Amino acid sequence: MPHTIVSDRCEGVSDCVDACPVACIHPGRGTNSRGNPFFWIDPDTCIDCGICLQVCPVEGAVLAEERPELQKRP
Ligand code: SF4
Ligand code: SF4
Repeated sequence: MPHTIVSDRCEGVSDCVDACPVACIHPGRGTNSRGNPFFWIDPDTCIDCGICLQVCPVEGAVLAEERPELQKRP
């Protein structure tokens, strides 16, 4: 099951972007509800390796399940 970035929790640190082996984490448009840049995971490309969850320093920003209602996409 693809992973999800909770848009309103992401702080835009981008550790996950550099770590993702298939480059499926992309910048969101604008900022989230807390004024931070954020990223989103393309569920069609994600291979569910879990590395983004391991490297993200922000509690609750990455979920190991597909939750499209929590993740803004362009
Ligand atoms: S999900 Fe975590 S590591 Fe990735 S951009 Fe957001 S805060 Fe940074
Ligand atoms: S689970 Fe793996 S493939 Fe999917 S977004 Fe995270 S690092 Fe990339």
